[in-house]
Amino acid sequence: MKPEVQPNKIVVLSGSGLSAESGLPTFRDSNGLWNQYAWHEVASPEGWQARPEAVLAFYNERRAKAAAVAPNAAHRAIAALEQAYEVVVVTQNVDDLHERAGSTNILHVHGELIYARGTSDARLRYRIDAAPITLGQLCEHGTQLRPDIVWFGEPTQFMEEARAHVASAAKVLVVGTSLSVYPAAGLVKAARGRAEKVLNCLDFDKVPFGYTFMQGKATEVVPALVNTWLNQAQSQA
Ligand code: NAD
Repeated sequence: MKPEVQPNKIVVLSGSGLSAESGLPTFRDSNGLWNQYAWHEVASPEGWQARPEAVLAFYNERRAKAAAVAPNAAHRAIAALEQAYEVVVVTQNVDDLHERAGSTNILHVHGELIYARGTSDARLRYRIDAAPITLGQLCEHGTQLRPDIVWFGEPTQFMEEARAHVASAAKVLVVGTSLSVYPAAGLVKAARGRAEKVLNCLDFDKVPFGYTFMQGKATEVVPALVNTWLNQAQSQA
């Protein structure tokens, strides 16, 4: 049975484009990470087995870069929605810019840079913030620490919870994702017919059915949309 739509609920589905204007590269744009690195070498269990030191170096750099930048106007606007709405952020991003902007209810479906985990047991998580992980650093069960990141071929986290949130949202904002990594990309389809659905990114070939495409930079589009939604909530109060 589908959950009831909650009139005051907003779900934000965010991707790497949201953090681009903070200075973190996306994956698939022309200056994206996958033009500089082979994903199967640095973001897969096979890459980890073959060259763990290269994988650690890749994520150590991502972690240091994420720690050195700040949330942008779009992250802050999303956090401001909590003034008037119940907001759930479902993010593919592995940075912590939503948290640092002030959002309080966030599901990281692809993991988080600020945590390390044991190789053998994903539940053994350790907060490391900006610190690097080195070869030889072990979890309490004696296995090598690895980034707490969902690699290609590994199961995406919190999917059922995320799908239920999208299905009960009155408004869904999709921002900064090419919707090309599944199953996370499939979450857009869980939105209800009568929900207000908006997609913001720089360009998009095939906008999902029922979504209004707002083309442009997240730091311009998202604060304007949030303003409209906050005014709407105020006029309905
Ligand atoms: P992607 O590279 O496939 O797509 C980026 C999207 O963002 C594109 O649609 C592009 O038009 C849009 N975009 C770029 N700049 C934008 C801007 N200024 N304003 C609005 N939109 C903008 O990225 P994706 O869909 O997030 O890919 C998913 C994968 O990327 C996930 O696995 C995620 O973990 C990973 N990733 C995360 C980070 C991060 O945490 N910051 C960085 C790189 C990659």
